[in-house]
Amino acid sequence: MSTTVPAGPVAFIGLGHMGNPMARNLIKAAPEGLRVFDTEADARAAFAAEPGVTVCASAAEAASGSAAVIMSLPNGKIVASVLSEGGVLDRLKPGGLVIDMSSSAPGTYAPLLEHLGDKHLDIVDAPVSGGVARAETGALSIMAGGTDEAIERAMPLLEAMGTTIFHTGPLGSGQATKALNNLLSAGTLALTVETLLLGRKFGLDLDMLTDVLNVSTGRNNSTDKKIHQFVLSRSFASGFALALMQKDIRTALDMVEESDEIAPLGASVVALWTEAAEELEAGADHTQIAELIERHAGLRLD
Ligand code: NAD
Repeated sequence: MSTTVPAGPVAFIGLGHMGNPMARNLIKAAPEGLRVFDTEADARAAFAAEPGVTVCASAAEAASGSAAVIMSLPNGKIVASVLSEGGVLDRLKPGGLVIDMSSSAPGTYAPLLEHLGDKHLDIVDAPVSGGVARAETGALSIMAGGTDEAIERAMPLLEAMGTTIFHTGPLGSGQATKALNNLLSAGTLALTVETLLLGRKFGLDLDMLTDVLNVSTGRNNSTDKKIHQFVLSRSFASGFALALMQKDIRTALDMVEESDEIAPLGASVVALWTEAAEELEAGADHTQIAELIERHAGLRLD
């Protein structure tokens, strides 16, 4: 198998909170053009005036004659259906590359492998972390699973979107790594909110408490990047939906047998976020987990 992607345009499917800035950063890495598609008309329209970009009417049209297809879709079920029923695999150039940058379950790709082989296509799972802010600056961390050859071929495209790119192991290992990262991230956000509620009950100033945590051993990504910005401000505007976080952490437990016994804390984190996904409004931001924890406590942070 060649170590480069065949010549041709790059297709990008899924132009949401993450896909929009990621696709913009790819324009320079796709000198033969970027072909984009999203099911939402507004998401497509955002690229209408972009030089070097062709807005397509379907995923299959975006993939037609493309050398690579990159996806940033809500979950692995949608990825699998876009690739197979959506006709993407049939339209890519033989020898082309499929890169799934959505957070999907690690087992998403197994049913597709035969079809990929028939078409001499390579596949990489390359989920991301860093949120919308780092998607915009092209500074995502990327967890890439696949063969050495496939990762090498994907690298010029991945480097346009991320600054720290890890080859995590075989296909699916990027997704496993990402799901575990999010389990820890979801757990620390919830525990950070509980910690602040205890501080509130005691009468501490919560901006002060967050500042102290940020230079002390309680510091974590939530104290640093989420509490002042989205929780205490009550903007709840991180751009990462609560339903997507709940999906990711469910994946983390579903990846292995007996996960509840191995990770009882993780299981209670998943139970909390599952309740939040059921109780809070559809489309809630993941930082609104604070609202459910406030309800349980009968106490608010503000
Ligand atoms: P999003 O909901 O904002 O974007 C998903 C996009 O996919 C939407 O524009 C939607 O219209 C489109 N879409 C859905 N079905 C489609 C289909 N069949 N064909 C074409 N387009 C379709 O979600 P997001 O926040 O951008 O997240 C995308 C992926 O990245 C998810 O898997 C998520 O878990 C992951 N992720 C998100 C963040 C974040 O901070 N938002 C961070 C890391 C990873």
